[in-house]
Amino acid sequence: MILLDGKHVSEQRNLELKDKIEVAKAIYHRPPKLSLVLVGDHPASLSYVRGKRRASKLVGMESDTHLLPENTTPETLRELITNLNQDETVDGILLQLPLPKHLDEDEFINLISKDKDTDGFHVVNQGNLYQTKPTVHPATPKGIMTLIDTYNIDVKGMHAVIVGRSAIVGFPVARLLMDRGATITVCHSKTKDLTYHTKQADLIVMAVGRPELLTKDMVKDGVIVIDVGINRVDGKLVGDANFDDLKDVASYLTPVPGGVGPMTIHSVLENTFELYLKHLKKDN
Ligand code: NAP
Repeated sequence: MILLDGKHVSEQRNLELKDKIEVAKAIYHRPPKLSLVLVGDHPASLSYVRGKRRASKLVGMESDTHLLPENTTPETLRELITNLNQDETVDGILLQLPLPKHLDEDEFINLISKDKDTDGFHVVNQGNLYQTKPTVHPATPKGIMTLIDTYNIDVKGMHAVIVGRSAIVGFPVARLLMDRGATITVCHSKTKDLTYHTKQADLIVMAVGRPELLTKDMVKDGVIVIDVGINRVDGKLVGDANFDDLKDVASYLTPVPGGVGPMTIHSVLENTFELYLKHLKKDN
């Protein structure tokens, strides 16, 4: 089994990005800037925001973090996002999800300017993705594609089974894999016989949020498994795939942690850099 080492790949790619930022800084006289917005103090969300802030610093990006209390009103969040949209020094805005229940996620995702949408969740950017037009790709699916490409995995003609159909992971990764010529099956909570589908897969993407749901009796020999899931079990992080079980049958496998997670952070930085270049080219 070959480990799809997202930690190592993201570190290499971040170094390359750092060099590109150095060059761009010399041309445009300022680094890219990412604004991170977090509402509430959910520990996992806080650690994701810290991770993105740390990574942006490492590649030479500027960032600022807006930590708002759990009881933030819609008006306050609207005002902050509107100001960040108008702020000429900000290239990318990342609203950490989930938001507290009283705030409408769709409203705020779409309030972020589509030109500063580092996560690629804005309805216009999602529409472009589904129409295969150039656009910002959601960070996790983009990170998965970068990982696959780095290991020279050609998915053309493969049968890819995506477990999970969320707008941020399952659905867009299905689109991107389909664009590369894979034949796609998307499974979800209403799928009657999950094993029937996973057994036929050449490549499986697990994006469910159920600890170690995928086991070796559910796959064929040589399968490629991309595990997006992040679950905390007894204080430990585990994926949606049972790593120990699958490592003897899979040809390629992502670990959790150290697989898709760091690739997602890298993609956020890459998206911010692309938005920065577009932003500055528009102004010049
Ligand atoms: P989500 O919005 O909760 O979607 C979960 C999906 O899984 C839904 O489509 C759901 O089906 C499906 N599902 C639930 N139970 C199932 C079952 N027993 N069998 C088959 N499908 C089932 O989650 P998400 O935002 O896509 O995230 C999925 C996981 O990835 C979570 O663990 C999350 O923490 C993790 N994640 C990791 C990263 C990273 O960077 N590594 C990034 C994003 C998310 P229905 O649509 O029918 O409800």
